[in-house]
Amino acid sequence: MNQGDTEILKGLVAQRHRICAIEESDTVVINSCAVLGFTERKILKKIMEFRAQGKKVLVAGCLSAYAPEKVIEAGADSIITPHELSLVNHRLDSSEIIENREKTRNEYPKIRYEGSSIAIIPIAEGCLGRCSYCATRLARGRLRSFPQETIVSEVSEAIAQGYREIQLTAQDTGVYGYGGRDRLPQLLHKVVNLDGDFRVRVGMMNPTFVLKILDELVEIYKNRKIYKFLHLPVQSGDNTVLKHMRRGYSVEDFREIVRTFRDNFRRFSISTDIIAGYPVENSASFEATLNMIEEIKPEIINITRFSPREGTEAADLEDIHDYIKKERSRRLSEMMKRIGYENNKRFIGKRLKVLITKPGKNNTLLARSDFYNLVVVKEGKIGEFREITVKTAKSTYMIA
Ligand code: SF4
Repeated sequence: MNQGDTEILKGLVAQRHRICAIEESDTVVINSCAVLGFTERKILKKIMEFRAQGKKVLVAGCLSAYAPEKVIEAGADSIITPHELSLVNHRLDSSEIIENREKTRNEYPKIRYEGSSIAIIPIAEGCLGRCSYCATRLARGRLRSFPQETIVSEVSEAIAQGYREIQLTAQDTGVYGYGGRDRLPQLLHKVVNLDGDFRVRVGMMNPTFVLKILDELVEIYKNRKIYKFLHLPVQSGDNTVLKHMRRGYSVEDFREIVRTFRDNFRRFSISTDIIAGYPVENSASFEATLNMIEEIKPEIINITRFSPREGTEAADLEDIHDYIKKERSRRLSEMMKRIGYENNKRFIGKRLKVLITKPGKNNTLLARSDFYNLVVVKEGKIGEFREITVKTAKSTYMIA
């Protein structure tokens, strides 16, 4: 979502200003994030550095909404919240007339990341969650789903421009259109019916809302244009912890979704997120998380050490020692590497169809299989579909 907002900010700024390398610039626009305390400190440090270099600094993004006083105190000249993207030029040049404040993210001009065949298309902003630890909710607010027509028209334009991987993003894509007739499956239906050979990567979905659309979602996922991939953040393998976190689902719900997708597709990738060291997580609940991961064996595991965020409920709970959080996150990382390698090893010698999406390191290219495994390839062109044979497996990628 933040990457998509950066593309919009670049597109808007380019309408009035010349975008150049930071070293040459006299003004810097930072698109900030509020998820972790560590990231917040890094952003505040950057603001101070740019100000010390005599640059004007405008800070956009979640941190501007979540902690505006800190951003200003660090030296930012002005801020815009995630709901005020259209004001960026007004803030950079105060003589600018404010216009089109009601546009959705699909209607703004964008400058997409160069050299990639990925188009990030936001479908909603905000969420329906009440997660106890979440600062993003405080910054982004309640759910606003963008109209289907503008989303479909942006996707269609991106395909016409040559983009081959369409990433539909939101804080929680599973709540898209909640309360109305056109939910995520209906939106996906319209997207996959567009002409052209492309792949759709559906962004993060909170398990609570996936359960409400499970059957329709499985049905539309049968379309070959959708990556057989779910980003389903479970956060903990213990129901008491999940309840404290106010996640709104149980471990059994998570298992049911995973089982349903794996039963319906020959190959399917699950990506999940885990918070290590949430305040009420004890040794037994942490072991339950390890056991659940061992049982499910997700293809991707994103691990975050709990960091209290001011203004959230979890910040008032007694934090557990840092060394315990580090140890838990170390054990999870070890498990993640082992499971990732075991999952990828099964593909050695197999032929896979991949879509080449962006450049890799040392003259290689990065590609995605139909079930979203990352494959490093040595030949081909960005945006091209190719048949490859997997030669080597690593914990987070494979090499053709
Ligand atoms: S679903 Fe929960 S974690 Fe996700 S943005 Fe909403 S409140 Fe935050």
